[in-house]
Amino acid sequence: MAGLIIAVDGHSSTGKSTFAKIIARKMDLVYLDSGALYRAVTLYAIGAGLIAEDGTVDAAQLDRHIAEGKVDIGFIRDTDSGTYVIALNGKSVEGRIRMLDISSSVSRIAEIPCVRRHVDSVLHRYGAQGCVMDGRDIGTAVFPDADLKLFMTADARVRARRRLLEMEQKGEKADFEAVYRNVLERDYIDSHRQMNPLRQAPDAVVLDNSDMTIDQQLAWLSDLLKQRFGITI
Ligand code: C5P
Repeated sequence: MAGLIIAVDGHSSTGKSTFAKIIARKMDLVYLDSGALYRAVTLYAIGAGLIAEDGTVDAAQLDRHIAEGKVDIGFIRDTDSGTYVIALNGKSVEGRIRMLDISSSVSRIAEIPCVRRHVDSVLHRYGAQGCVMDGRDIGTAVFPDADLKLFMTADARVRARRRLLEMEQKGEKADFEAVYRNVLERDYIDSHRQMNPLRQAPDAVVLDNSDMTIDQQLAWLSDLLKQRFGITI
């Protein structure tokens, strides 16, 4: 399966990364999380004081910092698990980038063209030799010739409940309404930005998992992989 590129796009909190990781394991491909790179840039922007209280981003300064090489983002292999973790300027930031302050600002950062170009070049560098990559524009913009494209979606309230549960399990405090608002806001910004908005590619296979259990989704995936690649999971 070496060299194949599988794109897993869709709305936030639809289980894209869980699916992408299973596919990667089954197909012996590297899993790459494109959203993590946008989150790492967001962490940088917060640390550099480039996001104002009202959420406005100083895009011109961020552009300059990127051009000066100050926002070095990439994936480093975790020797214990063998998986890739996200790094900002050489340090793993995997745990930090999933927190709500990052989630609240990341879509504003991801709509800035210089950020998208920076992230895209990193994604190409790591993914062009074959990968399973999840995100919003992988099948439409990053790898439009991907060998398989999935588009995952679910009702926004269902997604907010899932996200809340995940955060509670990590010991992070949040209330349902705040998480729900964040889900809606990210959907809106992601699908209305000018550069590479969230869209379903015409040749993507859609999975709406609002009312599906994990087992049902795995059965769906199993049929798909068997049909497309002759793989049994
Ligand atoms: O996938 P995740 O929720 O971690 O992504 C964080 C944010 O990064 C998304 O809400 C979206 O704004 C942005 N993103 C993007 N394009 C991608 C992946 C993520 O704009 N390919």
